[in-house]
Amino acid sequence: MSHLFYLSTAARPVLNRAEGIYMWDRDGRRFIDGSSGAMVSNIGHSNPAVLAAMRAQMDKSTFGYRLHFETEPGERLAAKVAALSPAGLEKVFFVSGGSEAVESAVKLARQWAVVTGQAQRWKVISRFPSYHGSTLGALSLTGYDPLTDPFLPMMVQMPKIPAPRAYLDGLDMEDPATGAHYAAMLEAQILAEGPGSVLAFIQEPVGGASTGALVPPAGYMQAIRTICDRYGVLLIHDEVMSGGGRVGTFLGGDLWGIIPDIVAISKGFGAGYVPLGAMVARGDIVEAVQAAGGFVHGHTYAGNPLACAAGLAVLEEIGRNDLMGNAARVGAVLKSRLKNLMQRYGFIGDVRGEGMLLAFELVADRATMTPLPPAMKAFDTLVELAYAEGLIVYSRRTRGGYAGDHVLVCPPMITTEAQVDEIMDKLIRALDQFAAAHAG
Ligand code: PLP
Repeated sequence: MSHLFYLSTAARPVLNRAEGIYMWDRDGRRFIDGSSGAMVSNIGHSNPAVLAAMRAQMDKSTFGYRLHFETEPGERLAAKVAALSPAGLEKVFFVSGGSEAVESAVKLARQWAVVTGQAQRWKVISRFPSYHGSTLGALSLTGYDPLTDPFLPMMVQMPKIPAPRAYLDGLDMEDPATGAHYAAMLEAQILAEGPGSVLAFIQEPVGGASTGALVPPAGYMQAIRTICDRYGVLLIHDEVMSGGGRVGTFLGGDLWGIIPDIVAISKGFGAGYVPLGAMVARGDIVEAVQAAGGFVHGHTYAGNPLACAAGLAVLEEIGRNDLMGNAARVGAVLKSRLKNLMQRYGFIGDVRGEGMLLAFELVADRATMTPLPPAMKAFDTLVELAYAEGLIVYSRRTRGGYAGDHVLVCPPMITTEAQVDEIMDKLIRALDQFAAAHAG
């Protein structure tokens, strides 16, 4: 009997070792990590430079409490993150994961409002669907019923606006009127709430598991920034999944040149080597809070030197090997190969994403984008068929509920074009079996 407690219903083999984009179970079976775990292992597994940096740091110190010491890796990593972030985003607060990063962002925003005489601002508008984390604060921003329903009485209900899923609504992604249409929903929500009560708007620039790599339509990001500025609402970007280089730029917002006020990053930041995340904020926001006595927030393990040394080595490895460039280049090849699948399979309704954050959606009818019946469990079926072929695509099995049948294909940023061939061969074998089983 296993003493581990997860909600997964699928029996999974025991992992033995992993290298690059490959993973082997205890029986020697090889898998391609086609989802980088949960979009985490951005630079692949067992990177020698990162492991060496971790060993070197372990020989010096593995923990120094933040009230007692600054650490050299922490200082260097913060400087590196600030240098990679757009101008103005210059203060870095380390945490150990994505939910912590989101909670930190929201709490910093709120404390800033309090110390700047705007204590009536507390509402954080988010999108539906969305995923911002599993702790109660982050969950109150999350738009996905199966995750939130059991906990509703314990949560503050934050207002939601629809995510800009133009592909479902039959609108033209390239038409700026489409972006304006969805952004206007934010303005309407701010006005409905009472502009003086709205603290922030939080969004995933390139969507994650809740929307399947949703990319906003033309004009949307610019319009959102303008509306936030018009009402003094802070713009928070949840880049827990999209940040760190996976989309081909350090932050997803960089794709549109949009600078938020606060950003949350994690996942690919520690890249599977260590639990690591960060909140990156506008300098003047942090200074106002510091001047009023300091940020009333923190986690014990945050910013520990081992985590920071690993995070720094990950960013150095990305820079040294131009892995953001590779994510953009090879990601474009992978995306066009996925798009080609639409000719072969009528049930692929949409292919979307940026860099190595890509997804395709399974539908009953492409013309109307009618979803497959949830009871068919098309997503789970395809994930299992791919797994049997030795290809891991993103699985949200532990989450339950129905979130649309979008399948994330997000291999590490080191993936080569030859490895894209390998991924596609396995995926096509799985899709052929899916097609045979569900024909007609
Ligand atoms: N925000 C986004 C966009 C995510 O994708 C996730 C995790 O999937 C989180 C927040 C929560 O991160 P964590 O699971 O590290 O707490």
